[in-house]
Amino acid sequence: MPDTTSPFGGLTIDFGADATPGGPAVAAVPAASDSTPSSAPLLILGSGPAGLTAAIYAARANLAPIVLGGHQPGGQLTITSEVENYPGFPDGIDGPELMARFRAQAERFGAHVIDEEVERVDFSSRPFRAWAAGVEYRGDAVIIATGASALWLGLESEDRLRGRGVSACATCDGFFFRGKEIAVVGGGDTAMEEALYLTRFATKVHLLHRRAEFRASRIMEARVERDPKIRIHRNVIIEGIEGDTSVTGLRLRDTRTDARSELPLEGLFVAIGYRPNTGPFEGWLEKDEAGYLAVHSETHSRIEGVFVAGDVHDHRYRQAVTAAGDGCRAAIDAERWLEEHAPVETAVSTAG
Ligand code: NAP
Repeated sequence: MPDTTSPFGGLTIDFGADATPGGPAVAAVPAASDSTPSSAPLLILGSGPAGLTAAIYAARANLAPIVLGGHQPGGQLTITSEVENYPGFPDGIDGPELMARFRAQAERFGAHVIDEEVERVDFSSRPFRAWAAGVEYRGDAVIIATGASALWLGLESEDRLRGRGVSACATCDGFFFRGKEIAVVGGGDTAMEEALYLTRFATKVHLLHRRAEFRASRIMEARVERDPKIRIHRNVIIEGIEGDTSVTGLRLRDTRTDARSELPLEGLFVAIGYRPNTGPFEGWLEKDEAGYLAVHSETHSRIEGVFVAGDVHDHRYRQAVTAAGDGCRAAIDAERWLEEHAPVETAVSTAG
């Protein structure tokens, strides 16, 4: 499992070494220090594949974007071990290293990445404003790429064994469970999809759900029921995950009888839903029925000049490569929009 105590798993990449900022349309203004601007033509919120791809494109368009990196700089890939499905890496690459490379590439062209989480925004007028760690940042356009966070069961053993047999992403980690017996917990479409996907690798997939009825669509449920490799356990909750350095089994409790049992296996996929990171945008932007940010046309939000990219609006694909593609689209949309709507000359002098 990567070292998540540092943003990029302890890698020693010199992010600042090759910065060649282009001339921004709005002069960048010092904030926290002389080298850290607080104002730019474009603010990017989030530093996962969507945010950093947007930053690469925007920086190369001379927008010198400020990226507010968020609570987990690098995004969800920094808590993944190996990424084997990102094109261009035939031998796979560690999630944290992949994100360090995204970041180095963005900074090389003049993006300023600040590892702070946006707390609130004011989109009532241009320049738009966002606050992180008490500092006010301004941008004539904004790309929101704050991603989504997988929900976890909240067990101590789950935390300890994450990346050592506990995962929240079958597409990322399924391959490592070839020939093994594993479980998926959850009763929604994600759990059904993950369980079905994992039958390609695992010898047996136990699907554990806390209730008798699934929340998933009937068609997905039927597929799961028909699959000979999947065994469904209803009305069970996981009380603990066994294993010191890797998963060896689960401790289960039947919610109707309170009977406890043990299930020996080697992996657990937690698929109990995602929470899009939309908190700071409450009241400013619309959400869809699943609580994700709504996009209106292409990557545009309902507020002109505010764009949306990646998992914060996408609950269908949720892949690093789709998020990266989305970040590229948002940067191109933002650049064109900025061209058509001449940047407002900001009179910001210092942040605060
Ligand atoms: P979801 O529909 O919210 O389902 C989450 C499931 O996890 C529920 O069954 C829930 O149990 C269970 N759960 C929640 N917290 C739990 C806990 N602490 N312990 C044990 N179980 C827990 O989430 P989702 O499956 O990620 O789907 C989210 C949205 O994306 C849905 O609208 C879904 O249709 C959509 N989606 C669509 C597709 C597709 O169309 N191919 C694929 C994936 C997702 P309860 O039922 O008891 O609450």
